Amino acid sequence: MAENKILDLMGGDIETLNTFFSSIGEKKFRSTQVIQWIHKQGICDINDMTNLSKKLRTDLPNNTVITVPKIVRQLESTDGTIKWLLELEDKNIIETVYIPEKNRGTVCISSQAACQLNCTFCATAQQGFSRNLKTSEIIGQLWLANNVLKSKHYNERRATNVVMMGMGEPLLNINNVIPALNLMLDNNAYNLSRRRVTVSTAGIIPGIEQLGSKCNVSLAISLHASNDELRNKLVPLNKKYPIENLIEACKTYANKTNLNHITFEYIMLNEINDSSSDAYKLISVLDQVPAKVNLIPFNPVSGIEFKASTEKRIDKFQTVLNRAGITTTIRRSRGQDIAAACGQLSGDVKLRKNKR
Ligand code: SAH
Repeated sequence: MAENKILDLMGGDIETLNTFFSSIGEKKFRSTQVIQWIHKQGICDINDMTNLSKKLRTDLPNNTVITVPKIVRQLESTDGTIKWLLELEDKNIIETVYIPEKNRGTVCISSQAACQLNCTFCATAQQGFSRNLKTSEIIGQLWLANNVLKSKHYNERRATNVVMMGMGEPLLNINNVIPALNLMLDNNAYNLSRRRVTVSTAGIIPGIEQLGSKCNVSLAISLHASNDELRNKLVPLNKKYPIENLIEACKTYANKTNLNHITFEYIMLNEINDSSSDAYKLISVLDQVPAKVNLIPFNPVSGIEFKASTEKRIDKFQTVLNRAGITTTIRRSRGQDIAAACGQLSGDVKLRKNKR
C-alpha cells in the first residue's frame, strides 16, 4: 500500500535516513542535513530546508511526512515545571513534563500511551494500556519542549537532560525507543551526552540486555522494594523478573557500558517499605552493583491508598544507606499542583479516548 511507504522524518535516526535516502538514489549527507534542520533548527517545512536540491524539496513530500506534536493543553506549575498534554493522530493523549533547575532542564518523556505493568502505586496504571508510541512521537516530545523553551519568555532555554520516566515502560517499546535515543545522542540533533539521557525501567531484563548492546545510555531501575515478596505486590512484573536476576542484569549492563553507576529508584511508602531493616536489606541487595539510590516520596494519586513516608522515616532510611557508602538522594517533588510529579501522569480523563 502506498501509505506504508510514507516515512516520518521526525522519527528518522541516521541509520533509518541513510537507508531511505539510498533507496531514492540520494547521497547519505542528505540524512545529516535533514536531521539538522528538524532537530537542531526546529524546522519542519521541507520548503525551508534550503540546502536540499529543489528537486528533492519537490519530491520529498510524496513519500515522507514530518509529524509535529499537537499540544492540547500546557500547564505551568508555580515551581516552573511545565506539563504538556499532547494529542496523537489516533486521539490518544500522552504527557510530557519539563523540570527546570538552576543549571539544567530535564524533559521527562513518555514511551507508551498509558502502561501495561499495573504497579499498584502509579496513576498511569489506572488508565489502561493503549499502544506503543512511534519513534516520531517519542522524539517529538523533546523537539516540542525545545521549541517551546527557545522563546524569550522562557529565556531561550533548552533541555539539557532527558529521562524516559513519563508514561509507559520504555523497554517494552525498545524498537521505537532506540532510534529516539540515537537522535538524543546524535551531535547533529540534540547532542546530549549518554550521562544525561536516562532510561527508567520497572525491570524488563531482556530489554536491559538489548539496550546494553545497542545504546549505552544511563539506566535507572524502579526497584521500590528489597525483597521479592513485597516487590511482587508493588511491581507485579517482579514475578517474571525477580530481584536477584534483575540485579545480575544491572551488573552486566554497568560493565558492558562502562557506566559509573546505575540509579535505583525507591518510592517511599509509609510503613510499607521504609523501615531501617528494609534499608539494610537494600544495602545487601545492591552489594555488588555500582549503585546510586534515589528516594521518591510517594506522590498522592486519587484512588490509591498509600501514604508518603514521613520526613523522619525518609531521613533515617537515607542515613542508613549513606553510612553504607551508597550515594542516596531524595527526589524533591516537582509540579505536584499540575499533577506532573512522578506517577501522576495519566492524561486528562475527559480528553482520553480509551476511557475505562
Ligand atoms: N515504567 C518505567 C518508566 C516510568 S518512570 C519505570 O517503571 O521505571 C516513573 C517513575 O515514577 C518510576 O520510578 C515509578 O515507579 C515512579 N512512580 C510511579 N508512581 C509514583 C507515585 N505515585 N509517587 C512517586 N513515584 C511514582
